[in-house]
Amino acid sequence: MEIKSVPSQIARNNTVSYSSIQEKLENKKTIILDGGMGAELEKNGAKMDEKMWCGKCSVDHPDLVRKIHEDYINAGADVITTNTYSTTPISMRQYGYEDSIEEFNKKSVQVAKEAIKNSNKDVALAGSVSTFGNFYKLGVKAMIPGFNEQLKILSGEGVDLIILEAMSSQADIVETMLNCSTNVNIPVWLSVSCVMDDQKNIMLGYNDTIDSDTHVYENFETSIINFKKLHNGPILVAHSDINITGQAIQAAKKNYDGIVGAYPNKGYYEKPHWRFVDDMTPIGYLNEVKSWIKNGAQIIGGCCGIGVDEIKAISILKN
Ligand SMILES: [Zn+2]
Repeated sequence: MEIKSVPSQIARNNTVSYSSIQEKLENKKTIILDGGMGAELEKNGAKMDEKMWCGKCSVDHPDLVRKIHEDYINAGADVITTNTYSTTPISMRQYGYEDSIEEFNKKSVQVAKEAIKNSNKDVALAGSVSTFGNFYKLGVKAMIPGFNEQLKILSGEGVDLIILEAMSSQADIVETMLNCSTNVNIPVWLSVSCVMDDQKNIMLGYNDTIDSDTHVYENFETSIINFKKLHNGPILVAHSDINITGQAIQAAKKNYDGIVGAYPNKGYYEKPHWRFVDDMTPIGYLNEVKSWIKNGAQIIGGCCGIGVDEIKAISILKN
């Protein structure tokens, strides 16, 4: 794979909202991200699409998507994320929505921007670029146009940063996304999923369903060492089990001088529904998060199953 040089974050065009995030990060402060969107939409009564999951909600239920963004902002989120995780050009083409790629992605940015505007708060907007869809059969080369297309639409529509939600992806896919992201001129964050293998090593991989095997790709420390050749922005452990997130943060900190954070999940996926489990209270989550911050994590939020109540609980850690 061709390796492009890593652009300096400072050289990138920071928006006013991102400048304040960057300043806080440089001053070792804690940034609060939002929680999951799909699961929270479902909790609020939105219909999940069998194929596109929550991807159609920005067009079908924009008021509800806006409300959830507003709920997260009111709960204390410094950064909210567009509902574009499942509107990747690859998945949309695959599922017959090829004519709506721009419309869905742009609408998601607009709805999130309206929520920020309504709040009158200094909140940054992250554009989610992901690997949702049937990526694995394609091979990494065929993924490149889709990544570039979603990056171009979201950055063109004015998000403050890109978050590459490479969750559940193998290292070569993550590296391909990172290479594509050098084409955009705004800050880039990376999120990946981790699991623990039978020998208790933290591995790049995932397991989000209750009855399927755990996918184990490679040692997470190896992943970090390779990702940092392509990326100098924040790296977040995401859509991973809360119970292994602390160790994953430590593994990332040990191998990476940049910013590290986390937004794990709670519950499991049963297509197209996120199933909630009631095994940890928001205060329980706050206590976990405190230990992660102690170990150097600076950006904390939640993924599927971590909702407004948890974000509100952890927002007391903002400083
Ligand atoms: Zn998730």
